[in-house]
Amino acid sequence: MKKINIIVPCYNEEKALPFFYQEITKVIEKLDDVKTEILFIDDGSTDQTLNYIKNLSEKDNKVKYISFSRNFGKEAALLAGLEKSDGDYVTLMDADLQDPPELLLEMWDLIKDGEYDSIGTRRINRKGEPIIRSFCANCFYKLINKMSKVEMISGARDFRIMNRQMVDSIISLKEYNRYSKGLFSFVGFKTKWLEYKNVERVAGETKWSFFKLFKYAIEGIVSFTTIPLVISTFLGLLFFIISFIFVIVIFVKTLIFGDPVSGWPSLACIILFCAGIQLFSLGIIGEYLAKTYLETKNRPVYIIRETNKKSTK
Ligand code: UDP
Ligand code: MG
Repeated sequence: MKKINIIVPCYNEEKALPFFYQEITKVIEKLDDVKTEILFIDDGSTDQTLNYIKNLSEKDNKVKYISFSRNFGKEAALLAGLEKSDGDYVTLMDADLQDPPELLLEMWDLIKDGEYDSIGTRRINRKGEPIIRSFCANCFYKLINKMSKVEMISGARDFRIMNRQMVDSIISLKEYNRYSKGLFSFVGFKTKWLEYKNVERVAGETKWSFFKLFKYAIEGIVSFTTIPLVISTFLGLLFFIISFIFVIVIFVKTLIFGDPVSGWPSLACIILFCAGIQLFSLGIIGEYLAKTYLETKNRPVYIIRETNKKSTK
């Protein structure tokens, strides 16, 4: 019989986990033609999350866990789950029930005959989300899809099921700065998209502040396109040409009309403007340089403190 690993990243999810476990066991009971295993990744939680998972694993032998030595972030948790998975299929699912577990039944039906390598999900609305956040998210997707060759689907969730071949391809991407949505689409393969209406978190709070999301968006852009560097080169060139024309105009004007000292406010504005553009460009370059720096250090993406998952590979 084939096997599915259900990977669930958890960071301080003590409130949501009891609901999650209840829902997922209902779904697993209905999946009678495939073996399942739930692999919780405790991402350095500071509440009772790990204890709850450990208790579950004693009662239910389908429950496995990996616990990190500190909080490494959801991307790291997803990678750990994929690397330690041993099933023919792997699914990624949030612990807060925002990824409805019952969709897994439909996903399994679609993937099992082998026509698709992956079944992804996307939210068709963002109900319950602050308006400004939805607006910024939409702008981000428009921007990144214009700049990058890798297509990012708006509203796409990390919630998906993949076959072993696709999972292995994702693991083979060894980058330190991971932006999973981009990586899934980078590796290609045949993906079918299921759509569903946004569900609000069952309990607990979102771990994403606006600032964290902003940083994550920059991560996505820097990981998948170098167009910002081209833009800063272009701006540099543009300003060079403009200043060249200016020099000629001023030179000719001085020859014809003499040289009255005037125009310092406009000069101050121009200097400030150019300095702004220079700092902006430096910032962009710095962003790429910083990523390169982190990549060359070759640090592990996560560190495991304890686990009950035996490595089978
Ligand atoms: N998560 C994690 N590490 C983190 C932040 C979040 O493993 O540093 C997990 C979290 O427990 C949840 C999932 O990632 O299962 C999605 O997080 P959240 O619901 O806070 O994000 P949102 O749904 O608001 O985008
Ligand atoms: Mg959530």
